[in-house]
Amino acid sequence: KNVQENEKLETVLEKNGASGSRILVFVRLRPMARKEREAGLRCCVRIVNRRDVYLTEFANENDYLRLKRLRGRHFTFDAAFPDATSQSEVYSTTTADLVEQVLQGRNGSVFCYGATGAGKTYTMLGTVENPGVMVLAIKDLFTKIRQRSCDGNHVVHLSYLEVYNETVRDLLSPGRPLVLREDKQGIVAAGLTHYRAYSTDEVMALLQQGNQNRTTEPTRANETSSRSHAILQVVVEYRFRDASMNVIQRVGKLSLIDLAGSERALATDQRTLRSLEGANINRSLLALSSCINALVEGKKHIPYRNSKLTQLLKDSLGGACNTAMIANIGPSNLSFGETQNTLHWADRAKEIRTKACETQEEIQLPECETDQAKLLIEVQKENR
Ligand code: ADP
Ligand code: MG
Repeated sequence: KNVQENEKLETVLEKNGASGSRILVFVRLRPMARKEREAGLRCCVRIVNRRDVYLTEFANENDYLRLKRLRGRHFTFDAAFPDATSQSEVYSTTTADLVEQVLQGRNGSVFCYGATGAGKTYTMLGTVENPGVMVLAIKDLFTKIRQRSCDGNHVVHLSYLEVYNETVRDLLSPGRPLVLREDKQGIVAAGLTHYRAYSTDEVMALLQQGNQNRTTEPTRANETSSRSHAILQVVVEYRFRDASMNVIQRVGKLSLIDLAGSERALATDQRTLRSLEGANINRSLLALSSCINALVEGKKHIPYRNSKLTQLLKDSLGGACNTAMIANIGPSNLSFGETQNTLHWADRAKEIRTKACETQEEIQLPECETDQAKLLIEVQKENR
């Protein structure tokens, strides 16, 4: 069955082809929690054929089919994951291909979007027993790098930051807020820790620790913040020699983003967005929606500058980037409205077109550095 699914996905990816692709949009349904079941809540989501999502208040099986005719209650995505879907299946369908692309020097990003409690952090970070996309991506990356170790030298750096209330913080080394600066690579957070990663084992602990450092809401002290965005960026530098022995460097960046809860920013059209602007809602999430709208409408000007989140993600959304969006939804009829809004948002995001291209440059290394690079390759081979 998995093979079939993967084939399906491959056709989707192929169709999107070279002339610019659209972002891939997935939906993941979280299982009903024991508390919800005990409270007598019903499941209002049904996933059919691994692609179709039906939203219903009806309990009767036949009623789902009738819903096909009801607008706004039936959605189709690149894939929809029922509640029993494993972490590794979510990873391999949504992100594995982007990891491969990052190794080729292309940028990729994966977003989790949805209301608080819908399963975003579970999908991105997961637990020690069931690690999520962030950890599985890094694991896969190291496996792929090991397989290619004879072709050249790879260096992997991680950074993990949070945007909370328009303040940027380093999650790997908490301290003062970071200032965003524009340099020749784009917008960067000055002073952000770039952790050189050598293996997967250290990474889970590092990310868990980082997640502990996320800001918690004063009103929900025992809950990870619903208003903070967490961004893990994995940069892979790949140096190799071409046929004429020139040193070539490729840099690919994978951004994995656990967005703030969407419940307070549920607006998909510009007018509602603007009317919400002054209210106490998440500016970065609104700005992200505005950028998505502008990208969908093919506007020349994309308002990246409107928030910290969109500034940081400028090169990870649209443009030269492969993007996957995972919309997380809860099953219960209590969250019917939130679920519907999330599905609308995701449906809209399907229309964004992107055009990923490689960043590859020939670099002139001073002789001594070339020797160092060679030495590094030797040392790494030995360590293995
Ligand atoms: P969010 O980050 O969207 O606020 P969480 O990821 O924290 O939501 O999920 C809320 C709760 O549901 C957590 O206790 C989490 O462990 C659980 N959960 C979410 N998704 C799943 C899943 N697919 N399988 C099992 N438990 C899940
Ligand atoms: Mg969370």
